[in-house]
Amino acid sequence: MSDCIFCAIASGDIPGRIVHETEHTLAFLDVNPLAPGHTLVIPKDHYARLDEVPADLSEELFGAVSDLVPRVEDAVDADATNVGINNGPAAGQEVDHVHVHIVPRFEGDGGAPIHAVAGERPDLSDDEMDDIEAAISE
Ligand code: 5GP
Ligand code: ZN
Repeated sequence: MSDCIFCAIASGDIPGRIVHETEHTLAFLDVNPLAPGHTLVIPKDHYARLDEVPADLSEELFGAVSDLVPRVEDAVDADATNVGINNGPAAGQEVDHVHVHIVPRFEGDGGAPIHAVAGERPDLSDDEMDDIEAAISE
């Protein structure tokens, strides 16, 4: 996509601090990091949402994430990482090009677990849970 900032990084049209590259994926430092070493991993081709990414590319993308997590942790001496995707604007996605966040975490850094991303917890009945289980399993 011509006006996509991550496509521009992938094509080399704008600079990025590239830390890893495979045939179809690229990883670079977030320009406005939540923590030192905050890294984004993208498919080089433009897909807006995770379900649009073809299966083999998805495998390559998450393979790159797995390779990078220990490297990022080692590089910044992190105690842990949060790994996540804002998949769609309602989930906080601002850049419309699939990207996996790798956010290094440090003991006592004042951050929160990934559970903190959603709103209030719903109070679901067993019937509602049954319906959801069935709907996802279909
Ligand atoms: P989102 O909210 O879409 O999941 O996250 C987008 C991320 O991209 C943000 O963390 C933001 O700091 C990062 N970002 C936005 N523009 C650029 C850019 O031009 N270069 C880099 N390296 N990161 C960017
Ligand atoms: Zn793009």
